[in-house]
Amino acid sequence: MWNRAAERDARLSALVFGGGVWIGISILLAGGWVASAQGMASQKFLPDGFWLRMFFLSIAGFPFAVWMFRREKRKHLERALAMTICPACDTAGEYNEGSSCNCGGAFVLQSTVRWIEDEKPRS
Ligand SMILES: [Zn+2]
Repeated sequence: MWNRAAERDARLSALVFGGGVWIGISILLAGGWVASAQGMASQKFLPDGFWLRMFFLSIAGFPFAVWMFRREKRKHLERALAMTICPACDTAGEYNEGSSCNCGGAFVLQSTVRWIEDEKPRS
């Protein structure tokens, strides 16, 4: 089922992207926080230690990560739904439904043609 494959792809890409951003930002902020806190020892109300801060920032950043995840997933799905293919020569395109191909055929949405699972390795 094409839609399920596209949905799965979108979810996986979004998960990797959102998770990567989440972890990356948490590490950067925790690292920067530790570095800046060394100059300002007065910040006693904040938890000590990199991992405690990392944990705290991860929780604080979670809604942002979820937002990123949803945004990415929607973007991927929209893009997947906009993917086209020329039925005559199998040339793939994006956002060009109905336009004519070099071979004389016309691009159609991939979601409307029967999905062939073992077509070619997908990036
Ligand atoms: Zn063509």
